[in-house]
Amino acid sequence: MCGIVGYVGDRNAYEILIKGLHRLEYRGYDSAGVAIVSPSGRINVYKSRGKVSNLEHYCKDKDTAGSTGIAHTRWATHGEPSDRNAHPHYSEDEEIALVHNGTIENYKVLKDALIQNGCKFQSETDTEVLVQLIEYIRTNNDCSLVEAVKEALRQVVGAYAIAVIEKGHPDTIIAARKSSPLVIGIGEGEMFLASDATPIVEYTKDVVYVKDNEIAIVSKNEPLKLVNLNNEETSIDVKTLEFSISQLEKGGYPHFMLKEIFEQPTTLRDCIRGRVVEGGKNIIVSGVLDSKDKFLNAKRIIIVACGTSWHASLIGKYLIQDMCRIPVEVEYASEFRYSNPVLDERDVVIAVSQSGETADTLAAIQMAREAGAYVYGISNVVGSSIPRNTDSGTYIHVGPEIGVASTKAFTGQVMVLTLLAMAIADLRGTMSKEELDKIGAEIIRIPDYVKQTLELNEQIERLSLIFTYAHNFLYLGRGYSYPVALEGALKLKEISYIHAEGYPAAEMKHGPIALIDAEMPTVIIAPNDHLYEKIVNNVQQVKARHGSVIAIVTEGDKEIKNIADYVIEVPDVPECLTPIITSVPLQLLSYYIAINKGKNVDMPRNLAKSVTVE
Ligand code: GLU
Repeated sequence: MCGIVGYVGDRNAYEILIKGLHRLEYRGYDSAGVAIVSPSGRINVYKSRGKVSNLEHYCKDKDTAGSTGIAHTRWATHGEPSDRNAHPHYSEDEEIALVHNGTIENYKVLKDALIQNGCKFQSETDTEVLVQLIEYIRTNNDCSLVEAVKEALRQVVGAYAIAVIEKGHPDTIIAARKSSPLVIGIGEGEMFLASDATPIVEYTKDVVYVKDNEIAIVSKNEPLKLVNLNNEETSIDVKTLEFSISQLEKGGYPHFMLKEIFEQPTTLRDCIRGRVVEGGKNIIVSGVLDSKDKFLNAKRIIIVACGTSWHASLIGKYLIQDMCRIPVEVEYASEFRYSNPVLDERDVVIAVSQSGETADTLAAIQMAREAGAYVYGISNVVGSSIPRNTDSGTYIHVGPEIGVASTKAFTGQVMVLTLLAMAIADLRGTMSKEELDKIGAEIIRIPDYVKQTLELNEQIERLSLIFTYAHNFLYLGRGYSYPVALEGALKLKEISYIHAEGYPAAEMKHGPIALIDAEMPTVIIAPNDHLYEKIVNNVQQVKARHGSVIAIVTEGDKEIKNIADYVIEVPDVPECLTPIITSVPLQLLSYYIAINKGKNVDMPRNLAKSVTVE
């Protein structure tokens, strides 16, 4: 959460920073701001509550000249969203300005000490403590900015990616990170920095991912320099970005979310490319064969994740248990990390996160590794922290996901977990070659089945009109469809602000059934699987109480078709592949309901993507 951008070079910094903030806006939109070293020698800071467009409006008649600057789009953790709490923050003497992504846990102690020493604060943020502390050290110790940053960071407990500029040294930005992402782009006579590579790719493909506890000296004319907190220079590993600018645009769609829903046939094809070979007879998932012993001897698998990734992980549990006969637990990373978990070297921990930067998931990984467990990571963003902090792992390869409500990353995660389960099953001999080949052959067809499912778009759009003004929704499913119900409910909540609850269908009778009346729609995910007859009963139970039922069924369905009010028919696929198909109509349903209500689906209130704070 929170996006930071920086530029140093010869171009107009303001334009690059604003464009960069737009690219990072998915990370937070409580406020936005820029700080630019002006040719007149002062640092101009402009900030505004709300979206980046507000900031642009505010800056219309302002002096934005200058070719070095930093910028920020905020997702507030400390202090309400307001102009005052917006970043960048000045030091009291306005000699330096700073942007920050993360949280400073010991900010209160540091702030009290600074106040005692005469510092005056303008905001309620934890961030302002950092800028005041750096300036206090710089002026009192008469040292350089980089020295002051180093010393300040030694005193700080928490997570940060920061960028600092100084009036007296207009061609340099000092940046640093710990537990929050930071990428540097290297151009010719110019450098860029950002929370992810999306603001950078337009200008250069050469990037350096800054590591924890490194400080970067980013200058216009000098090569990039990285040092650690002990003042030792660290190595620079330049990587080449693999995505292009076109992947960051809406490509004719009104919203990123819709574009990403419709991209799924392509993203799933990309996801299986090179992994499902020989017509589905061979499944190759990186890291599995290299760590064969770990998967062969695993006494348990624990999957840690948050949000939508947690739902994908729950499907992963069903898959791995079914196919590999290994006990699997799925944990919210945020709970796991504080639950004093019992772990040892025979556990395999799988961490799932789209961004690869989810703070709680990273903390869970660290705990698992300290306990000796083998950690496997599944993420989307190449070069992110999860692949760098796990023993092995793989990418979902679905391209940048910009819509805050995850869609293509979810189906990509489920696909990778399916392939992983198959690869482990093959290794352990828990499934016959014949069974595996059959699923493998169907996986190759999945992109086409998803394409076919997307043809339901208009039907779902029409259906959405009937339910736009419902106040509550219930989503029910059993087996593989239970996590799909959870995900369907989450999608609706996230973007339409309608209360929705996902539940295992058979558990309905232990509580949620009390909610059912003619006003409340129930979405039932009921593909043709081994629990089909059971879920028919659940549909009957809802109908007996005059509930309105929207059912997602397999083409050719007979029974539910006769009792449900509305039916969405999806292609017939093997049971273990149903989640990838049945989740698609639910994505569309939530999208259209939110659109009918006039909501901003790409930037839902209070939410942000890439949750880099606890
Ligand atoms: N803690 C800072 C603030 O509230 C930054 C928040 C973030 O990175 O999400 O302003």
